[in-house]
Amino acid sequence: MKIICVGRNYAEHAKELGNEIPEEPVLFMKPKSALLPPNTPFYYPAFTNELHYEVEIVLRVCKNGRYVDDAQAGEYYDAFTIGIDFTARDIQAELKKKGLPWEKAKAWDHSAILGNWVPFTTSILSKAIHFSLEKNGTKVQNGSSEDMIFPFNSIVSHISKYFSLNIGDLIYTGTPAGVGECVTGDLLEGFYEKEKMFAIDIK
Ligand code: ZN
Repeated sequence: MKIICVGRNYAEHAKELGNEIPEEPVLFMKPKSALLPPNTPFYYPAFTNELHYEVEIVLRVCKNGRYVDDAQAGEYYDAFTIGIDFTARDIQAELKKKGLPWEKAKAWDHSAILGNWVPFTTSILSKAIHFSLEKNGTKVQNGSSEDMIFPFNSIVSHISKYFSLNIGDLIYTGTPAGVGECVTGDLLEGFYEKEKMFAIDIK
């Protein structure tokens, strides 16, 4: 399996980091080793001094395919959850300045957090998905799938032109505004509507 991530998919978030609104989805990848396995502690990585949370809707791919049209893209994912795309922002800033790839800032071990899976139903698909992140009990990020620049189907279709979709692949669909720093001792909790999807203690 692979993890495909979309960057700058919310206008307010692109602005807060001083980035332009993209004309097509910005894609990057994390390897399988980036996933924090269940019941595993999360340790603040030694190589960064500016660890940022990015709460995101994550899609689960359920069908193999390439060159998928927008109209058919909905058949290729069957569940979602809320997750975190942890980012070493200081390292990313250095890499961006030099025009270098982002992997050291984004693709490191345990940088990808997943919550509980929610199967898509017609009722879920018919309305916006609201999600949020709390840090130590205070809401720090609030998102709605309605605010995505590229909606699910357009992301899935775009990805499939470059990378085959394989069952079990994960797609992080981008973070809304409000990204920020977290430190050892912080508790991060992700929510879909009012339902808690994950809790991460930073050790
Ligand atoms: Zn992200």
